[in-house]
Amino acid sequence: MEKDFHREFYKCPQCGSEDRFLEQLAGEVRERGLAEKDWKFHFQIVEGVVVDQTKAAAIPIGSELPGFGIMTDICMDCGCIYAVDLTRIDKKRSLPPAQIIPPNRSQRRRDAREQGPQIIIGNN
Ligand SMILES: [Zn+2]
Repeated sequence: MEKDFHREFYKCPQCGSEDRFLEQLAGEVRERGLAEKDWKFHFQIVEGVVVDQTKAAAIPIGSELPGFGIMTDICMDCGCIYAVDLTRIDKKRSLPPAQIIPPNRSQRRRDAREQGPQIIIGNN
């Protein structure tokens, strides 16, 4: 993958509609002058680096890791949640945050069921 990989999607992959829920709501806010002309709003914005937690401690500070930025919106015709913007954002490993609050048990069980990208917050 290219280091500057970036792709935007303008159509629902399920039904082909171009009507997106949050994008249209943001448009109303802009039209009322309550936001900048180029302001955008998304359903989710997720950023992180891809790292195997069992190896994380061995990765030297300053090492560059492949990172991601993902923005999603919701199709107004079929309800599909899909990525509208995928951006590769490589990040240098920094010192871990001073305090880590462990997730509660139900959160851990949920995490174990979900097979998704590792999301690191506050580690950039
Ligand atoms: Zn759709």
